Amino acid sequence: MTGRKEHDKVVFVLGAGFSKRAGMPLQSKILRLIIETGLIGSPMLKEVLASVFSTDDSTSLEDVFTLFDTSIEARNNCLHFTWKDLDSARDLLVRAIISLFCDSQKSIDGRDWRFYEGIAYSLIRDRVVGGIGEDLLAIVSLNWDSVLEDVIYALLARHDLTKTVDIDYCCYTKALDDDSDHINSLVQKSLGRHNIKVMKLHGSVSWLLCSNCRRLYTTLGSRSGVLDLMFPRHCEECSKLVRKMWKGDAKKLPVLEPFLVTPTYVKAFPNPHIQMVWHNAQINLAEADEVVIIGYSMPDSDFHVRNLFRRSIRDDSRITVVLPQSDRKPAEEDGRAAVDTTHGRYQRFFAGRNLNFRFGGVEGYFNYRKACRRDEVDSRMVEIKQMIETENSSSA
Ligand SMILES: [Zn+2]
Repeated sequence: MTGRKEHDKVVFVLGAGFSKRAGMPLQSKILRLIIETGLIGSPMLKEVLASVFSTDDSTSLEDVFTLFDTSIEARNNCLHFTWKDLDSARDLLVRAIISLFCDSQKSIDGRDWRFYEGIAYSLIRDRVVGGIGEDLLAIVSLNWDSVLEDVIYALLARHDLTKTVDIDYCCYTKALDDDSDHINSLVQKSLGRHNIKVMKLHGSVSWLLCSNCRRLYTTLGSRSGVLDLMFPRHCEECSKLVRKMWKGDAKKLPVLEPFLVTPTYVKAFPNPHIQMVWHNAQINLAEADEVVIIGYSMPDSDFHVRNLFRRSIRDDSRITVVLPQSDRKPAEEDGRAAVDTTHGRYQRFFAGRNLNFRFGGVEGYFNYRKACRRDEVDSRMVEIKQMIETENSSSA
């Protein structure tokens, strides 16, 4: 089988390499891509980027957002731009990034979508197999894209399972439209749902935050796509209060805003939803008997994530790092890990620990974990449905 003990808890940590096959852009390419594809429609944002940064490949998103965040916080000008200009530019850049991800997700071809369905099946199976009371699977995602959750949800919907299995973002999320069956974390288990924990440490392109009540909406399973947020959308809950709070003036209704934790060297997480996600990630990593880190290069600049690993992964946990073959860099002649390679960074970071590498990439790893063949996904999902029905009838 897969070398796991029956009751081991496994936590997956997903980096950008996990979504590569879906065509999701790497962070280092995002700025160039949104400039080249014309997603920056605003002349003002174009002018800020052209005046302040050289927009060749050397400009990192961290640089851009660090400048925005420090200037806005200190109410400082930058060149002839006021902090308010920079605040608008920042918002426009976030929306352009979301558009880029949405465009990329729309263009995922059928074969690649089915590849992720095979993985989605294996995660649903791992969650369902131990019964509703178990807590032996969790996913920590460092990615903004929502490919994994959307594939899982579409597969559940196809098999009429969205009222029995749900994505649990480990914070208080609300479905954007009432055609979605998604409900928030707190009530999933009590309402008989097998919750698949997906903790998104950097927010999500599929999340929207109300600027007034701070409710967090998700497009998971909803008719409305993320791109709808480009047109102002009002908070449904605040709309109920319009007469009391805004004297019936619908123009004053709060709108939903994108919710990404953007890369910056001065990163802070003041938002309670994100704090809850990080807190839950810490607890789940500490409980893990095995941590499987997939497609993540763990750069030095990600000190929050590195600190999270240091604080929470136990000495006796197995650590499996899944990387593509091209990342295999053997130790140097003196036996020391190579510096400045992903392979070497992990060897040094987890020195003396129970560390294993798998260089077969995402596909190789999930084949090993018995993700099923793409043409078998639907028949295997029927077995999952029967398993849930048996569990429900025996507990009734
Ligand atoms: Zn609201």
